Amino acid sequence: MHFVDTQKCKTDEIEKYLSDKNEKYKKVWKKYVDDKKNGVITKQPTDNQWNKPFIKEALSDCFFNNCGYCGKSTIYDETGEQIRNEGDVDHFIPKSKDEKKVYSWDNYVWSCPICNGRLKVAKLGFLNPTVKNDCDCIDFSFKNFEYCFKKEEKYKNLKNKFKKTINTFSINNINFKQKRKVLLEELEFYIEDIERYQPLKDYGKEKEYNEALSKLERKLQITDFKLLAERIFIPKLKTHH
Ligand SMILES: [Zn+2]
Repeated sequence: MHFVDTQKCKTDEIEKYLSDKNEKYKKVWKKYVDDKKNGVITKQPTDNQWNKPFIKEALSDCFFNNCGYCGKSTIYDETGEQIRNEGDVDHFIPKSKDEKKVYSWDNYVWSCPICNGRLKVAKLGFLNPTVKNDCDCIDFSFKNFEYCFKKEEKYKNLKNKFKKTINTFSINNINFKQKRKVLLEELEFYIEDIERYQPLKDYGKEKEYNEALSKLERKLQITDFKLLAERIFIPKLKTHH
């Protein structure tokens, strides 16, 4: 899990659309939230207008088509084959808790069906991948390919949320760790190729160089830690351009 700046992906069209829907449905949702609070048995409203394709696409793009929690790709299966996008718009603050967050872009996290289901059970107390302050406490260990907690005093109050997030979404399970290991090896491999062909680019190796570059770029698209990988690998590359 890493920080994803969803503000960058919010367009005027999205903003207008969501604010219109908020106006239209806010009374219904307010009643639902109040009923819940008062212990009244009530049915969730069914407008679901955040599920429009253009909203889903924009959010998925923003997360590079990876689940914001566990990092799993929502457009590639285990074998790397492209599949129908199976992600969903998750409301970080549940719809039953705050009616103002139902049609709020700032409250949306792109999520795989598994994490979405887990959130429905546990609901609160997680790090929010769209909040930079939450994600600043997350580090990555290249020794065991785990996401870990920065042991600095200023992050102390996030420790419990961090633990709950890692455990709930199985972020450091063996399967994910193995995939990160393989991926990092592949990235290293492409970078070696790029470094090898770069000086020979003008001496007949341009095709090989471009191929290695495009392979690296493709790989980066499907990593669950694209931003992290970019932070580490891209600067490394840039020094060779
Ligand atoms: Zn997930």
